[in-house]
Amino acid sequence: PAADPAAGQAVKAADRAHVFHSWSAQALIDPLAVAGAEGSYFWDYEGNRYLDFSSQLVNTNIGHQHPKVVAAIQEQAGKLCTLAPGFAVEARSEAARLVAQRTPGDLDKIFFTNGGAEAVENAVRMARLHTGRQKVLSTYRSYHGATGHAIALTGDPRRWPNDTGATGIVHFWGPHLYRSAFHAENEGQECERALAHLEQTVAFEGPGTIAAIILETVVGTAGILVPPPGYLAGVREICDRYGIVFILDEVMAGFGRTGEWFAADHWGVVPDLLTFAKGVNSGYVPLGGVAISPRIAATFAERPFPGGLTYSGHPLACASAVATINAMAEEGIVENAKLIGESVLGPGLRELAERHPSVGEVRGLGVFWALDLVRDRVTREPLVPYNASGAANAPMAELATACKKRGLWPFTNMNRFHVVPPCTVTVEEAKAGLAVLDEALTVADAHVN
Ligand code: PLP
Repeated sequence: PAADPAAGQAVKAADRAHVFHSWSAQALIDPLAVAGAEGSYFWDYEGNRYLDFSSQLVNTNIGHQHPKVVAAIQEQAGKLCTLAPGFAVEARSEAARLVAQRTPGDLDKIFFTNGGAEAVENAVRMARLHTGRQKVLSTYRSYHGATGHAIALTGDPRRWPNDTGATGIVHFWGPHLYRSAFHAENEGQECERALAHLEQTVAFEGPGTIAAIILETVVGTAGILVPPPGYLAGVREICDRYGIVFILDEVMAGFGRTGEWFAADHWGVVPDLLTFAKGVNSGYVPLGGVAISPRIAATFAERPFPGGLTYSGHPLACASAVATINAMAEEGIVENAKLIGESVLGPGLRELAERHPSVGEVRGLGVFWALDLVRDRVTREPLVPYNASGAANAPMAELATACKKRGLWPFTNMNRFHVVPPCTVTVEEAKAGLAVLDEALTVADAHVN
């Protein structure tokens, strides 16, 4: 792409004058002006190209500008741009059919939203009305979105300034062997103790007061935490025993990210409700939703569901989901994510860990990996403290800068480097990204005690 610095400066100037950005101190940010994107890359107006190891916010599972998805949006725009949710429309019907075909077990009705947080809001609403109970349990290591209940369910520090209104939300500890809350020494212990802790939490909160337990099938932003074998089945069993609705949040883990259509498929677990967004259409047009079991759908067979959105099942968004899902199936994109994880990212990251003392643990699957970075491999002291900012976060900021300088766009969170390229990433691209990371990690190594 030809450089056009003047155009970039104009874009940047209008942004700084008028755009109010998420999660940011407005005067302290310096957003990169992006001119275009294709496949696993995007580029700025200065002529710099970046290999996108973040998939933006872990959503461009099909890569940038997939021609079949772009064409489907164009075609739908020519046909019918918008229609109220109360009508039946081809793109929505077909998107719901394709999603329901792939969601685990008997989940077969789809309520569409504009994104992940709204999916979580509505899943919680369904669970409360279905059970007639109020409480919802979620884990400390989690992110569920930024709206009222979704941010209150979230465990990470983004909840703290928002912990103001939602009631009936209780946090517990999920399994995470490397930083075990249970002093466990192996996956078996971690699983057993995490389930005992949940069982006890349920007992002390009052099983008859709990509407739902919500989990990310594989925890995303809060650490790429793959549950130990048996954990999800154990939570399913607790939910069944007490009549609690089991919600799996697959907003980040779904649609190929873990090398399966849904992460739940790795463990054969079927929730009562499953939330999705991001990868359903790679965010080409905002879309999310809730997949609903027949039991919960039946609650709203004769009684109206008291929720809705002007843009629920928006035709442009649904047409892009249809094209995305079909292209992912035709082109073996989910299989590619699995293969890249097993043959390139998994082995490659473990190899980096051997050479870089700042890497405490490598974990993940598919195109969903994290390096847990430490100052000391024995004590596992994180490279930066929990929720560090400013000078305290400098080692992570330096690592991110080192990647960007070498043309790799990183995803970092606290002391972790997440390796989350598109599901379409090629072997060569994945290897090129790892080579950059290999160089950049020397910056983190310099902070090892
Ligand atoms: N749930 C999970 C697991 C997520 O990762 C996210 C976003 O990162 C959300 C919910 C919120 O989705 P959205 O930002 O589309 O509202």
